[in-house]
Amino acid sequence: MWMRSVYSMLLGGTLILGSALAGATNPWEEIKSTSSQAPASIGEYTNGCLSGADRMPLRGEGFQLVRTGRDRHYGNPALTGFLTDFSAQVAGQGLGRLQIGDMSMARGGPFSYGHRSHQMGLDADIWYAQDPRSLQRPLTAWERDNIAAKPLADAKDHLLIEANWDDNVPRILRLAAEDPRVERIFVHPTIKRKLCRIAGKDNDWLRRIRPWWGHNYHFHVRLACPKGDTNCVAQQPVLNEPCGDDLDWWFSDEFYALLHGTAPQQEKPKPKPKPPMPQQCTQVLHSP
Ligand SMILES: [Zn+2]
Repeated sequence: MWMRSVYSMLLGGTLILGSALAGATNPWEEIKSTSSQAPASIGEYTNGCLSGADRMPLRGEGFQLVRTGRDRHYGNPALTGFLTDFSAQVAGQGLGRLQIGDMSMARGGPFSYGHRSHQMGLDADIWYAQDPRSLQRPLTAWERDNIAAKPLADAKDHLLIEANWDDNVPRILRLAAEDPRVERIFVHPTIKRKLCRIAGKDNDWLRRIRPWWGHNYHFHVRLACPKGDTNCVAQQPVLNEPCGDDLDWWFSDEFYALLHGTAPQQEKPKPKPKPPMPQQCTQVLHSP
């Protein structure tokens, strides 16, 4: 069951979505204004939309937006509120200034590239590294779109880049993981392994920190459905041990076969057809 979800992540994720939308225009990417409806996250993290979105300011206490040219810095007010509080805590503890990348589009919805989730304004990507320029002054528009992120892990070789490690990273992640609004945080598996080694027995906070593909430059914070958002589909809570056996799979022969594309072909199930979006999303798309 779990393997199936990994395959569907690989097969049914960005690749399929990308090809389905290639050539056709994606109305969720076309519309640049938020809807005038009340704020709500509707559907699922990987199939949903966002009404009454809030736009994150360019810079504030403890944060600076990056990649603003993509226009993906909208969220449920619960998300912008969380990011504001979390960043202020980061600054207050002398942990620098977070660089916040993609959140959701103005009305949420699916992307033609880059993400499978981030569809209902409850997901945000935050860089592990902090650019020294951003600590001193607001980044220019060019810098926001062009400064390079520093990877903490090498995704191809599946190795942690020790030279880029920063001792503030576990402290920052712990602040987020212990916030009751947070549902899960995704990091590269080698980063999770390092966090487990550092934490030792004091690891309960690592339960919500999940190893996942594609998180070598940034961690991904996902909030739980806000109270009152009755059309928001909650995920199963994480019940695994904080640093249990499930991490081992990411260093198993089976994983390396998938990483290197040498897994037996016949094991891969056909990608499931994409389910329709929740009905309310049609109203969100067409609302003034
Ligand atoms: Zn993400």
